[in-house]
Amino acid sequence: MNVNILEARLRGFHRDPIYLDPDEIEKVDSCPACASREGQRVLAVARGLKDQALQLGQCTSCSHVYLQSRPTAEWFDKYYSEDWDTGSTSQNQVKVASRARRMMRRNRFITKAVRAQRVLRHDMPAILHPSPARLMQMISGLGEVKGDEFPYGWKLLDIGCGYGGSLLFLHEFGLDTWGTEANAHRAAVARSLGLNVIHTIGDDFSPVQSAAPFDLVYSSHVFEHLADLDRMMEAIDPLVSPDGFVYLEVPHGPVTEDIIIRTHIPVHCHLFSASSLSALLRRYGYHPVRVLVDTNLHLVARRSEEPIGIHDVSVPAGSERIVHGLFDAIGEPDTLKIAYEQHHIEVRRSIDDSLVYKRNFPYGVYPVGVQGRDEFLIEIEAKNDREPWPIYFQHPTYQAPIWMKYG
Ligand SMILES: [Zn+2]
Repeated sequence: MNVNILEARLRGFHRDPIYLDPDEIEKVDSCPACASREGQRVLAVARGLKDQALQLGQCTSCSHVYLQSRPTAEWFDKYYSEDWDTGSTSQNQVKVASRARRMMRRNRFITKAVRAQRVLRHDMPAILHPSPARLMQMISGLGEVKGDEFPYGWKLLDIGCGYGGSLLFLHEFGLDTWGTEANAHRAAVARSLGLNVIHTIGDDFSPVQSAAPFDLVYSSHVFEHLADLDRMMEAIDPLVSPDGFVYLEVPHGPVTEDIIIRTHIPVHCHLFSASSLSALLRRYGYHPVRVLVDTNLHLVARRSEEPIGIHDVSVPAGSERIVHGLFDAIGEPDTLKIAYEQHHIEVRRSIDDSLVYKRNFPYGVYPVGVQGRDEFLIEIEAKNDREPWPIYFQHPTYQAPIWMKYG
């Protein structure tokens, strides 16, 4: 089915459209999660009058959804190290960090637990990524393998630790915490909090090798951004202790992702399901022992030569789940306006603003209006309603544009 993109108005994080040079685009022909070459199907293609840009596809073996045509790994390395967050548009993070340091000194005599909770909940909300409660839920009990329920004293590495919110929390709870961060500005803020954070580029973790092995390697909202998952898994492998754990948190693809956004804004190269994230980890000898699935997907896996843990983590991801309103709009004769704001999605008729589709998100999203709205003005040409795949997003430009966040 063809979807003509008449106009794109991106008012959220994004600036002007980017047109990639041919040598900045890479094709992927096997599943990045389970490595299967068979059964890779095309879901959507963003194309211009001459060239295409992004292509989204799905593996029928493990249900992984991923960019089959995307910017190269080198292009992403440069983007995340230089352009993604220069600190210029965020609120003054250094001020936030020094306030946190002062607050921590003041509260020296309060118990560690209360202090960490206070830092995270009230004083540093802007620099926090994951929920501390969820983090505790996922790691409590892992310490039993060494005789203590909570992993006190464990050596932990946070890959892509951002501003250090999780590290600070875990450090307060008695873990020996280390972090890597590709963005120099974020790494500097984390170091100013007194954390062991090393600025690394891409998957070069040689600067942290001397601190290995780690009992637990943790990474939150990083893997979905990676062009090459194998490169990251190979880089992590020498850092994990022989019976150590890996804990990955990523957006849960079937719940949080959208097909138009992902074929135009390639910040997420991967839309993981529990099945596909497990498939990736198993290939490297990590067996899922704990899985939590909601708007995000949390998976803890343990390194073992023998099969252990949960044998069947089948929460497959049907591709229809990321379409959000396009199929509801098949047959609409007029121009439609499809608007995104966080996870809120609405499709309306341009002619009278009447509603065609609205997504009611289950829970756990930011209030509408926080970040600005992205809108696409579209026309749908569906020749055969029964087989809508692949969806071609047709642009009136030479090549389909992409958008990224800068600032
Ligand atoms: Zn696969």
